[in-house]
Amino acid sequence: MHIPVTKLMASLGVAPQALRAGDLLSLSPIDGQALAQVHAAALPDVASAVERAHAAYLRWRLVPAPQRGELVRLLGDELRANKQALGELVTLEVGKVSSEGLGEVQEMIDICDFAVGLSRQLYGLTIASERPGHRMMETWHPLGVVGVITAFNFPVAVWAWNAALALVCGDAVIWKPSEKAPLCALAVQALFERACQRFGQPELTQDLCQVLNGHADVGQALVDNPKVALISATGSTRMGRAVGQSVAARFGRSLLELGGNNAIIVAPSADLDMAVRAVAFAAAGTAGQRCTSARRLIVHDSVYDELVGRLKKAYASFTIGPPTEPATLLGPLIDLAAFEAMQLALTQAAGGGGVVTGGARVLQDRYADAFYVSAALVEMPAQTDVVRHETFAPILYVLKYQTLEQAIALNNEVPQGLSSAIFTTDLREAEAFMSAAGSDCGISNVNIGTSGAEIGGAFGGEKETGGGRESGSDAWRAYMRRATNTINYSSALPLAQGVRFDI
Ligand code: NAD
Repeated sequence: MHIPVTKLMASLGVAPQALRAGDLLSLSPIDGQALAQVHAAALPDVASAVERAHAAYLRWRLVPAPQRGELVRLLGDELRANKQALGELVTLEVGKVSSEGLGEVQEMIDICDFAVGLSRQLYGLTIASERPGHRMMETWHPLGVVGVITAFNFPVAVWAWNAALALVCGDAVIWKPSEKAPLCALAVQALFERACQRFGQPELTQDLCQVLNGHADVGQALVDNPKVALISATGSTRMGRAVGQSVAARFGRSLLELGGNNAIIVAPSADLDMAVRAVAFAAAGTAGQRCTSARRLIVHDSVYDELVGRLKKAYASFTIGPPTEPATLLGPLIDLAAFEAMQLALTQAAGGGGVVTGGARVLQDRYADAFYVSAALVEMPAQTDVVRHETFAPILYVLKYQTLEQAIALNNEVPQGLSSAIFTTDLREAEAFMSAAGSDCGISNVNIGTSGAEIGGAFGGEKETGGGRESGSDAWRAYMRRATNTINYSSALPLAQGVRFDI
């Protein structure tokens, strides 16, 4: 067992016994070695957790929203105080380089701050009534139990995006984390419990947030439970297709954050120095394991040779290695399956006429059980099936274009619709890209890459990405139910639309 993990977990409030409490294995992608074996929920545990969460919701929904915000403020304090340790744990369990592990915790802190402010701004509208002496308004009420299912690649931040908003909205939360990152979930839960202690009203916070570690069957049991009002699920399109259909079958609500296949267009007027840096981070950062990672580069004919040449140089300079070493830019893939999927995609791309640079396994002598790769650039003659498919690895397919219409058509001609970007200094091109006839993605950026969103905006995408929106803007509405109220303060009873019913 890794020595640092016991110490790290203890500092975050997780007892050493929890690290050998069951048979769900946590492996570090840094060296493939076991970190811990934690308890996995059994299916009956899911039903009882939902019952307890529902009871917690019935109490919590009556607490005024700004007081609910106080609990989230305390959670933010715990995260601030433990940012370093939690960031290190993210690095250890999913292999993100240190600055990204810390960045993920910063994102949790940011969304807590956002949610605290939001707790005083859960506004409804007042609406003009067509009847004299009447007034209409909307009120927003807590929704119920929110089931949060998360992916391995954002093992802490995605819970926070959901939980911070759900808590101020008056909901209870049950979290089914990725089976590849159970320790991160235990640590976050421990920090939440510390915040509850400081909140000092255990009768209100009991069972308000719970964690159910386990595999897909645990998630599916949560999805099928009619007392879970909202399922917010982040992961592959394959998972979302199953989850979305199950939730719809019981008329539940779902918020789906699924796969992306994000493109960057580089136009003739682009600042190529910026484009090279942005593309390198977006495509190779996090070893290509972000939902917003750039997977396609659509380059104008006139700048193609220069840009691709410079990118190849940049790619050759990446330091690949353990994410704990300060110089490392490219850490490991999460596991063998990710490595095999990458190799299969590269073989298929080559079979379709692609010219592959990079993509091989490295550091195999030092880390026989871990999967480090060099980032791959693949020059493609056309947008073939393999390019249209999300492979969760550092592969960047490069395509050429002649007109902006062609570039936008290529951008949109994939099943996914998460993030997109254009590098241009031409105002007309930038606006066209963001217009109704432009990118069809939930995120479309100008002169920055596809990844690295801030929490202030609504995050999510269209088509096979699932249509959900999380985090900032008005994403909070997904966690509440809306009531329309019509109030008659006159002494008459006129019916709408002039209907008469005189008795
Ligand atoms: P995954 O789909 O394998 O697993 C995600 C989660 O879903 C896990 O907790 C898993 O146990 C659970 N799950 C799987 N099948 C389920 C089912 N039938 N019912 C209930 N739960 C089920 O994804 P992953 O490999 O962990 O993550 C990578 C994927 O996630 C990529 O496709 C990536 O694009 C996507 N992702 C999307 C976003 C986004 O915001 N759009 C963010 C991060 C990751």
